[in-house]
Amino acid sequence: MNHLPEDFIFSQSSLQDYVDCPRRFQLKYLLRQRYPAPEVDDLLEFERRMAQGERFHHLLHQHAVGLPAEVLQKRIDDDEVRRWFDTYLANGLNDVPERRYPEYSLTIPLGAYRLLAKFDLLALSDDKALIIDWKTSRHVPRRDRLQKRLQTIVYRYVLAKGGTALNGGQPIPPEQIEMRYWYADHEGQLVSFAYDAAQFEADEHYLTCLVREIEERERFPLTDDTTRCAYCTYRSLCERGITAGPLDEWELDEPTDLDELDFDFDQIAEIEF
Ligand code: SF4
Repeated sequence: MNHLPEDFIFSQSSLQDYVDCPRRFQLKYLLRQRYPAPEVDDLLEFERRMAQGERFHHLLHQHAVGLPAEVLQKRIDDDEVRRWFDTYLANGLNDVPERRYPEYSLTIPLGAYRLLAKFDLLALSDDKALIIDWKTSRHVPRRDRLQKRLQTIVYRYVLAKGGTALNGGQPIPPEQIEMRYWYADHEGQLVSFAYDAAQFEADEHYLTCLVREIEERERFPLTDDTTRCAYCTYRSLCERGITAGPLDEWELDEPTDLDELDFDFDQIAEIEF
């Protein structure tokens, strides 16, 4: 039986949830179960970090649309956010093409559904298409783990498949695409991933198969990897414990990306395509 609504829009977050735990995907996106339990042990600190991340992203957006850095700097009342913003001014836009699209969303068809990517910044020139994701996390993940993240897979694929309107009506060649994670709390450390036609084809196959698998599923089993449950909001529903995992280890385990947590159902519904 197909559980997916016809107008379902996949994203890197929902696909990552599915890959991490099919049951989490079902609870969150099909049953739309709201959060019964905190995800981490220190909720106040968790919320503070989320608010800092949102503030930082908002500042970068304001800067990208033309507000002067000096004006924005005066408005910052948080020392960490100020330090991140200064770091961004020092090196965040190094080697970034001039044609820039901040907070840009693209959707493309994926099987019978759609796939959405919400980019922090797209920057293009005649021979380069750079995707930047601003990160405020306290830890820089291992490169091999980032490479496997659905965000890395989905963002490059969506731009290659759906970036025609940004490129004079021509598809953007995968070889021109680079995905760059930039870490504000680590002096602008970069983790970058190139792209090519072979990877594009492999990603298309992987994503198409993943969606078909979700579509055809009768049951959505609980993950076997119970370490994921410590940070999962559904652990009481699943009888996988009642204690939230420690915040400081949250980003080490990367159950969810803190910078992506503002991405919710309401935002998805508002995006037209
Ligand atoms: S608590 Fe564990 S099994 Fe249940 S949805 Fe979360 S990750 Fe999956």
